[in-house]
Amino acid sequence: MSERYPHLKVDDPEVYDLIQRQAKQESTTLKMIASESYASIDVLEACGSIFTNKYCEGYPGARYYEGNEVTDALENLAIERGKTLFGCEHMNVQPYSGSPANAAVYRALLNPGDKVMGVPVSDGGHLTHGWKVSFSGKDYVQVPYRPNQETGRLNMDEVREIALRERPKMIWVGMSAYPFKLDYAAFAEIAQEVEAYLVADIAHINALIIAGVHPDPVPYCDVISSTSHKMLRGPRAGFIMSKVEDRYHAKYHENSKWNLAQLVDRGVFPTMQGGPHMHAVAAMATAFKFAQTEEFKNYGKQIVKNAQALCEELEALGRPIAGGGTETHLLLLDFRKNDFTGKDASQALAKCGIIANFNMVPGDTRSPSKTSGVRLGTPSLTSAGMKEGDMKKVAEWIDRVCANINNIDEVAPTIRAEIAEFCSGFKFPGIDE
Ligand SMILES: *Cc1c(COP(=O)(O)O)cnc(C)c1O
Repeated sequence: MSERYPHLKVDDPEVYDLIQRQAKQESTTLKMIASESYASIDVLEACGSIFTNKYCEGYPGARYYEGNEVTDALENLAIERGKTLFGCEHMNVQPYSGSPANAAVYRALLNPGDKVMGVPVSDGGHLTHGWKVSFSGKDYVQVPYRPNQETGRLNMDEVREIALRERPKMIWVGMSAYPFKLDYAAFAEIAQEVEAYLVADIAHINALIIAGVHPDPVPYCDVISSTSHKMLRGPRAGFIMSKVEDRYHAKYHENSKWNLAQLVDRGVFPTMQGGPHMHAVAAMATAFKFAQTEEFKNYGKQIVKNAQALCEELEALGRPIAGGGTETHLLLLDFRKNDFTGKDASQALAKCGIIANFNMVPGDTRSPSKTSGVRLGTPSLTSAGMKEGDMKKVAEWIDRVCANINNIDEVAPTIRAEIAEFCSGFKFPGIDE
């Protein structure tokens, strides 16, 4: 590790030490934040490359700065790899992150004041899907839809009813805390019926789609946005896929000369962003290359197997899971019947070396700042090589933390040490190599 930053170590020991501390944290604890994983060493190297220097506003072959022969080749490589990986018609790799990607989608398709169907944050949706404190809820009108409060699942009849009543111009499908598969085909039927753009946000589940263990949105959606960090294990950045033709050109963009692909590109630059982050594009290209391998597909499959094994073990220990299980990478511990809150539990877990976050569960009666749930994800543990058998141990630690929540400071040092010892048996990508 120390050899990786020989200059920083000498020139800026403070930042160097903070990197070392973070590396230690990430290799001696169980990282169970559902949106995190470990970037590969190749991604870290590409991200730290001199491509951070270059300004290249515009797109390959049409830049506003000179000297972009190499960055053109790099961006085209990322785009070609991404298109092959997902089988999409068009890709834009310039968004700085997932939220700016989503902002670009709004700017590409809508006018301020238009109606957008999305899931509220308190029900597992993302800020950018029309939540009131975000630009998306201030500049656009959110028509909310949400999972059923009893089952935790989306009811497509209900989604259709809301769409028919409200006639949104765009429908978001894709969440941050939903443990079940999404039925893009059913969403597409509804979107077509009300003549709305269907936009998938696959930030959380892209690797599951690549691995074939989650339905594929590409045939069904006009636009698809994503992050490249989270389970894809790439740089902190975003990308957008789309069809080339705008099926609602006559209805919504009659006076525009742009097709859908061009609307998306213009939504990113010059509408939302200036110069792209080419070091992130370099890292995204290499993340896409790795994502095409069998090894990556096996990782995607193992993420779900691990999440399901963890669910079963927790339920066997008497810890209920919201919705009764998972079909993805995440699960929600349901503490509605306990005296302690989701926040109490997530803080106690963190003291013991299990890093997660508190989260609302379906039917939650506690406030969003306390909640009755903890969201747990398996991408990071899977990146480190953990399998179903390891989830049994993880479940036992989680159960012990919950059982000892009132005397957590007494038990924390022991559990913390056990977990650090357990972690020493694994190789953490980007840290132990
Ligand atoms: C994480 C996430 C985003 C945004 O990503 P940032 O890179 O944090 O801006 C967008 N949509 C969904 C569903 C997400 O989970």
